[in-house]
Amino acid sequence: MVEKENAELMINDSRLSRQLQLYLEMIAGVRFTKLEFVVSKSAINERRETFAAVLAEGLHIQLEPIPETLLDREKVADGLREIDREDYRQKLIVAGFADHPIGENSCAQCMYYVVSGRWCALPEIALPVEPHWWCRLWRI
Ligand code: SF4
Repeated sequence: MVEKENAELMINDSRLSRQLQLYLEMIAGVRFTKLEFVVSKSAINERRETFAAVLAEGLHIQLEPIPETLLDREKVADGLREIDREDYRQKLIVAGFADHPIGENSCAQCMYYVVSGRWCALPEIALPVEPHWWCRLWRI
């Protein structure tokens, strides 16, 4: 639960995506006005660390096929839309997360990566990530 008392980061940063705000509102169970958009950085870090542990334990991730066309990408996105928003494990599987770069590519170079929040702003994913991770929907 995000608590104002524990807030370490005030999101007053136009680079942060609407998806991040929605996600934080969801886990906080409240809606933030612009001035109240205060969140716990540690809560987000905790979630990111959980994903890292899940990936490190060798989850059976669907790394292939890597979508080559918009239609292929849309199929993966469709699969993600069908997953319950809280079912992170399944999201990691279907999106094809890797906890390392694939070739030269990683979240850090992806157009959906929000540097200031270490966050994936692709609506179908909308999760905290690490810059050296990668998924099948990587895009530049
Ligand atoms: S590579 Fe995937 S998880 Fe990483 S930022 Fe891009 S879309 Fe998001």
